[in-house]
Amino acid sequence: MFESLQERLGSILNGLTGRGALSEADVSAALREVRRALLEADVALEVVRSFTDKVREKAVGAAVVKSIKPGQMVVKIVHDELVEMLGAEGVAIDLNAPAPVVIMMVGLQGSGKTTTSAKIAKRLSERQSKKILMASLDTRRPAAQEQLRQLGEQVKVATLPIVAGQGPVDIARRAVQAAKLGGHDVVILDTAGRTHIDEPLMVEMADIKKVSSPHEILLVADSLTGQDAVNLAKSFDERVGITGLVLTRMDGDGRGGAALSMRAVTGKPIKLIGTGEKMDGLEEFHPKRIADRILG
Ligand code: GDP
Repeated sequence: MFESLQERLGSILNGLTGRGALSEADVSAALREVRRALLEADVALEVVRSFTDKVREKAVGAAVVKSIKPGQMVVKIVHDELVEMLGAEGVAIDLNAPAPVVIMMVGLQGSGKTTTSAKIAKRLSERQSKKILMASLDTRRPAAQEQLRQLGEQVKVATLPIVAGQGPVDIARRAVQAAKLGGHDVVILDTAGRTHIDEPLMVEMADIKKVSSPHEILLVADSLTGQDAVNLAKSFDERVGITGLVLTRMDGDGRGGAALSMRAVTGKPIKLIGTGEKMDGLEEFHPKRIADRILG
């Protein structure tokens, strides 16, 4: 679908083989292609700008090694810089706090919050033998609490019994209390989403945070929503404060631009990626793979 950046840079820089160093003009020509590739990969404009500035700094004057083509060299510089901006590999969910450790899942409706909550619960219980309690705080969508209960059954993780008529803040409080009494190590709070960010949602998130003191607040975002995901991450981070990101639908055909943008805009680590609808479709984040994807 896309001509790879490597091919594009090859055609504009191949004439340079064997010359001493990359000149300002060479790099500028290359960066035009880099910029286009990043925008096609859905990287936010502000991120593209700061990124290309950094690459320019590193590339101008860089010695052209005889054995590799200048195009390949620029691709390597771009690749390394992408990896650096995407941040560290495999930043685990931090459970280093007195039990029960509360993980609050936030995000828009349909982003994959409920699915991801159950996937994380499965992972922590199977790999780290944690005793988990999940609770759905979504009282707006009638089927939401039942959906989490069923997923809990599927992954063999306890869910907080549903009490009709209770609001999200009360459920959060009850979940933490139940986890204390039940000796659970971790509580996963699956909050309600909306189709878009609005004030009542942010107030609700802040109230839940206040009563449950989460150690992790993970924003679940659909990687296919591109720029919207970036604005979303910004708002949630400013208003609620997030500790990490989970990008879902990385099994789709998105090019990974949202990952780079969200990471760059919030400075928060991408902790996990969703790679399918099944309960084991959750993987650690590998910056190198995303960089490859962005470069095409
Ligand atoms: P919520 O409204 O944020 O709780 O979203 P859900 O967890 O209900 O997910 C919405 C839909 O997205 C469901 O059909 C999920 O199976 C699907 N989904 C969630 N994560 C992924 C993923 O990583 N890849 C794919 N392909 N589908 C996903």
